[in-house]
Amino acid sequence: MKVGIMGGTFDPIHIGHMLVAETARDAFGLEQVWFMPSHIPPHKHAAGASGETRLALVSEAIRDNESFRILDWEIVRGGISYTIETARMLNERYPSDDFYFIIGADMVQYLPKWKDIGELVRRLTFIGVGRPGNSLNLGTLSVNIAEKVLLADMPMVDISSTMIRERAASGKSIRYMVPDAVYDYVQRSELYGVQPRSAN
Ligand code: ATP
Ligand code: MG
Repeated sequence: MKVGIMGGTFDPIHIGHMLVAETARDAFGLEQVWFMPSHIPPHKHAAGASGETRLALVSEAIRDNESFRILDWEIVRGGISYTIETARMLNERYPSDDFYFIIGADMVQYLPKWKDIGELVRRLTFIGVGRPGNSLNLGTLSVNIAEKVLLADMPMVDISSTMIRERAASGKSIRYMVPDAVYDYVQRSELYGVQPRSAN
């Protein structure tokens, strides 16, 4: 089976993530895409919302899509989430499946910095998807990495979790920027500083 892994902080998950996963699934005939929130990404500080909350938001987002699943390994493992450790576990647990790690264009240029990238590109293939403000260019990558990155075209969506957190905290609407079920969950739980909805 061909399985996509959609990694991210998902703080919160938004429609850009959904579209990236669906585009990659469709472009390369992936049977499933597993959304995998990281605990602490190597290149970032700890996320704002807890791992549990981010997992809950992701499961709200994907619940109507039979091709989308959730993988909680990195949250359960804790600490810094190195993809190579997850890739080793995936290969061990699912030896006959092929894994495709889906990333936005902003991540592609940093692939040479990923821990044990040489081993990582032997264990899985990357799918790079366009993101506004970032060119999807494999020219800066060494051949052994570049030959393991497939590219997919996607309508550009200029939405980030940072933008959503900032909008929520300043009282602006995030409706339709996140899946409806995520919107409801954020409102209900008053996450990211949103104000409770008024009755009318
Ligand atoms: P933050 O602003 O907190 O960094 P983010 O919107 O970048 O959040 P992440 O959880 O960091 O979301 O991203 C997870 C993955 O999704 C990354 O590979 C990232 O490149 C990709 N991604 C996120 N948003 C988009 C988008 N709008 N278009 C294309 N790729 C995206
Ligand atoms: Mg990001």
